[in-house]
Amino acid sequence: MFISFEGIDGSGKSTQAKRLAETLRNRGIAVSLTREPGGSEGAEQIRKLLVEGKGERWSPETELLLFTAARRDHVERLITPALERNETVISDRFADSSRVYQGLVRAENRQLVEELHRLMIVVEPDLTFIIDTDPSVARNRGVIRGGTEDRFESLGLGFQLRLREGFLALAAEFPLRIRIIDGSGSEDEVAARVLSHLP
Ligand code: ATP
Ligand code: C5P
Repeated sequence: MFISFEGIDGSGKSTQAKRLAETLRNRGIAVSLTREPGGSEGAEQIRKLLVEGKGERWSPETELLLFTAARRDHVERLITPALERNETVISDRFADSSRVYQGLVRAENRQLVEELHRLMIVVEPDLTFIIDTDPSVARNRGVIRGGTEDRFESLGLGFQLRLREGFLALAAEFPLRIRIIDGSGSEDEVAARVLSHLP
């Protein structure tokens, strides 16, 4: 089974992906926990090209190609082999992040995102959790650091609000695959909400 976690920056995706991986491993299930951009050696190298530096280093189209190249390597080298070994794959972000960031909010290239997905990625998660957290709550958790480490992280509250709306619209578009999880409250509370949706 392939499960992805999605949501705005600092929504709690990584925390919940890790917790679900631990819970499933405690139940004796083999889990590959991974993330995007990255997850395989080549994709981690591409991640550096994407997040390092300042300002608009790439055009929106080049950025989309880099995210797609990273995802292709991740799928080829890690996700598909793990699924073939019958492992559960849990990815912190996957193609829905491109649909929202590269397709809607940072640029309006949704059709191009879908075309590249159809040609180069194909794989879709069986289940996607959108951790839906109010941007000001995410910020108060001290996450949007405005930093040198990640050139995307200084983007403001308005940007995060548009992302949130984009993720909620995707959930309406893919109702069978996507579950919206209320990201407010403690880590335990959010983890219990995630578990309640598992088959
Ligand atoms: P990013 O997109 O920036 O990688 P993320 O969505 O993966 O962020 P996390 O890294 O899981 O978010 O969480 C961001 C911060 O908020 C971390 O410091 C984490 O410990 C904390 N955190 C996560 N969930 C909760 C929660 N339910 N309540 C309080 N703090 C939380
Ligand atoms: O989730 P993570 O913090 O690891 O992502 C790294 C950065 O890449 C984030 O600032 C996120 O906003 C950005 N990103 C993006 N488009 C994607 C995936 C992530 O702009 N498809």
